[in-house]
Amino acid sequence: PLVLGIETSCDETGVGIVRGRTLLADAIASSVDQHARFGGVVPEVASRAHLEAMVPTLERACADAGVRLDEVDALAVTSGPGLAGALMVGVAAAKALALALGKPLYGVNHLAAHVAVDVLEHGPLPTPTAALLVSGGHSSLLLVPDVTAEVTPLGSTIDDAAGEAFDKVARLLGLGFPGGPYVDRAAKEGDGAYVTFPRGLSAPHDMREHRFDFSFSGLKTAVARWVEQRERDGQPVPVADVAASFQEAVVDVLTRKAVLACQENGVDSLLIGGGVAANSRLRALAEERCTAAGIRLRVPRPKLCTDNGAMVAALGAEMVAAGRAPSALDLPADSSMPVTTVQA
Ligand code: ATP
Ligand code: MG
Ligand code: FE
Repeated sequence: PLVLGIETSCDETGVGIVRGRTLLADAIASSVDQHARFGGVVPEVASRAHLEAMVPTLERACADAGVRLDEVDALAVTSGPGLAGALMVGVAAAKALALALGKPLYGVNHLAAHVAVDVLEHGPLPTPTAALLVSGGHSSLLLVPDVTAEVTPLGSTIDDAAGEAFDKVARLLGLGFPGGPYVDRAAKEGDGAYVTFPRGLSAPHDMREHRFDFSFSGLKTAVARWVEQRERDGQPVPVADVAASFQEAVVDVLTRKAVLACQENGVDSLLIGGGVAANSRLRALAEERCTAAGIRLRVPRPKLCTDNGAMVAALGAEMVAAGRAPSALDLPADSSMPVTTVQA
């Protein structure tokens, strides 16, 4: 099926078009520059930017794909989770298109879409697959029976998300926003073993009770304390080394727990998705550890890891192919949609 997907859960206005598992267009407009000076996404600013970008982004996606809107078989939109006002813009646009074109509409979960996007690159998912979902607002380990079915959560962060930790540490190191790509870049010039920062929830007792959970807030505090001490001592802060050491602590825990989740659940396939999956060190260490453990690793190319419309279209196309009924046209923008709900 030819499916158009709309994403507006945060600061990216994304419109993607797929034919089955073939990506035809992935148009994105970002309001990131408007949020940079605030050091975080400002919801009202994001909503207004989505309103302004929606029609031009739709037009660009159709032009890139070489298709007309009336040729589309179905529409998909991120129903949640995300910023309420931002989600509403995409959901309203998708409903208007579905009504005007007389085409079915699928309201889908943004997190499930971060997983489903991988089919565009690596084809159908082995069943079941373990998924490490690491983004700006979420960090979870999941068992995925099939991209259109309800996932089983194995664990999640008990405080900050991995991407949030990257953003906060980037800020305290004086790097740009959002921090992930800046830390990634700075870390390439640094030594990941320069400081041994704490690996959250990795002590023996935590590896019983919380073995598939994450904690990054203690790590962020440890980095802040280390930097403060350095400044008190009148010493320069070795930004690249601190960035690399922080990044190493995050990806060490993520990959170790993801491999363990595969082993304990008898699964030999791991997928990593969400914005943090774009991290070069996470990709390299995951590859190394999965190879050693005999696990097949799937990570979409970086551009498909961060928010985009193609991931929504990809999940929509899987829904159509699986014969799922479309969503009702009064489907909500659900800012706190649980990770287990695939479709609204
Ligand atoms: P969610 O998916 O939880 O709703 P989101 O949609 O805001 O959150 P994504 O676009 O999926 O977030 O991911 C954005 C996050 O990914 C940011 O925190 C950003 O810093 C992080 N990120 C992006 N690229 C990298 C990278 N190369 N290394 C580490 N983190 C990265
Ligand atoms: Mg973003
Ligand atoms: Fe996201």
